[in-house]
Amino acid sequence: MTPALTAPATSELRSRAEHLLAALGATRPEPGPLTVRTPITGGELASLRPSSSAAIDDAITKASNAFQSWRTVPAPQRAAVVRRLGQLLTEHIGELGELVTLEAGKIGAEARGEVQEMIDICEFAVGLSRQLYGRTMPSERPGHRLMETWHPLGVVGVLSAFNFPVAVWSWNTAIALVCGDTVVWKPSETTPLTALACHTLLRRAAVEVGADPDIHQLVQGAVEVGEQLVDDERVALVSATGSVRMGRAVGPRVAARFGRCLLELGGNNAAVVTPSADLELATRGVVFAAAGTAGQRCTSLRRLIAHADVVGPLLNRIEKAYHQLRVGNPLDDGVLVGPLINQRAYRSMQDAIARAVDDGGELLCGAERVMVTGENSHYVRPAIVRMPAQTAVVREETFAPILYVLTYHDLDSAIALHNGVPQGLSSAIFTGDQREAERFLAADGSDCGIANVNIGTSGAEIGGAFGGEKHTGGGRESGSDSWKTYMRRATNTVNYSPDLPLAQGIQFG
Ligand code: NAD
Repeated sequence: MTPALTAPATSELRSRAEHLLAALGATRPEPGPLTVRTPITGGELASLRPSSSAAIDDAITKASNAFQSWRTVPAPQRAAVVRRLGQLLTEHIGELGELVTLEAGKIGAEARGEVQEMIDICEFAVGLSRQLYGRTMPSERPGHRLMETWHPLGVVGVLSAFNFPVAVWSWNTAIALVCGDTVVWKPSETTPLTALACHTLLRRAAVEVGADPDIHQLVQGAVEVGEQLVDDERVALVSATGSVRMGRAVGPRVAARFGRCLLELGGNNAAVVTPSADLELATRGVVFAAAGTAGQRCTSLRRLIAHADVVGPLLNRIEKAYHQLRVGNPLDDGVLVGPLINQRAYRSMQDAIARAVDDGGELLCGAERVMVTGENSHYVRPAIVRMPAQTAVVREETFAPILYVLTYHDLDSAIALHNGVPQGLSSAIFTGDQREAERFLAADGSDCGIANVNIGTSGAEIGGAFGGEKHTGGGRESGSDSWKTYMRRATNTVNYSPDLPLAQGIQFG
């Protein structure tokens, strides 16, 4: 492995971030106690003031007021804002992508990919605006019509995680806006600059198409800012993306006020590799899913469950590929693995590996720091740990590039191992045997929200519904019919007869 040894000075990155924000039309935030660090050097990129309680209340009020008229704008007209947002994102893909790299540490290709995903969901939402279909059902009563109508829900509060600082917002916002909702967004406190840029682009889109810019509000800060959104009765839906710990706090609070909640929480994703698998293809799928984004995707591959007959040759290939991965400055061409987000992530990786080794695991490669550009920068080689069993540490999500390898002898026990974790986000099987593939996708196969065949666990397309089961929270967002979470359903019965027959044939009086 050839580590990239170049690292720019933080001052250079700071002026680059200022330049990018200006190019994206955003005003530089007023300095304040919220420090924004770049994981590239660990240095300070900017600082800003978190939103005060009064400012959050004001944002919710503005979004509620804007909802009163936004909900009556025909959906295909509402789509004009999202169409324009998609155009602006296309124009600014390079600048927004680079800002994602500076703030979240993603390599260029993945950061641009994240913005491309935003453009894709905008296109999807524009089409969706003409397809918010309700059903008609045959009424049991003569001269009656029975149907359902979908209406806008209200204010949607979006809480987002650091690792997809812009795409998750767009999945929620593009759909919510065409559904007739307004949005208040609280991004991760780690990535407020990209949020500022997106908010600016969306308000610009609204102004340019003659819509009310108050349909979107941005509030900034840490947990307490999120809590205010969570507890406010005017927020009809809280769409929260982040750790299981966050979901455990948010879910019950929203439920206590009978609000709606869409939870997109942590994963502990696995791939099963069977003896009939194409090992070359499996290797490529495993390496991208496990080491890509430095293991900091909710869908990152964390567990490899390989058949005893192929585990040896498969591991040889994967280890060889790992040795060729360039770890380093994500702004450099050819670098495939950027930094961890912060020191906490680095420590949790080291702690998890120590626990795995205590449990009898063998560290095959990785885990060491490869480049230190400052106290707070953390570049690590992705690690592979061969485990004798699925112990407690393997059953947890450690948000870092650790791949635990487990061995199986028959497919039933592989599926039992696969499902034997609390989370249920993404899963994969690599096999050349259709029976095994179908078994994995069947009702008694993978218990995850995403189950793939001959493709890794990460890198979902926007067209499908995205989300997972069990401790992952059960939410679905992005494509398919996820839009239904952002609307309320009314069942309508229309009597166009002169009589008043009652359902179930009841005679009254
Ligand atoms: P996090 O849980 O620390 O924070 C996520 C967001 O929730 C932040 O905006 C944070 O300020 C806010 N928050 C945290 N606790 C809160 C509370 N009690 N009340 C209100 N708001 C609160 O997550 P993170 O470290 O930013 O992101 C990594 C985690 O997110 C991983 O577990 C990853 O798997 C998960 N994730 C899941 C998905 C998905 O779609 N399932 C996508 C991306 C990330």
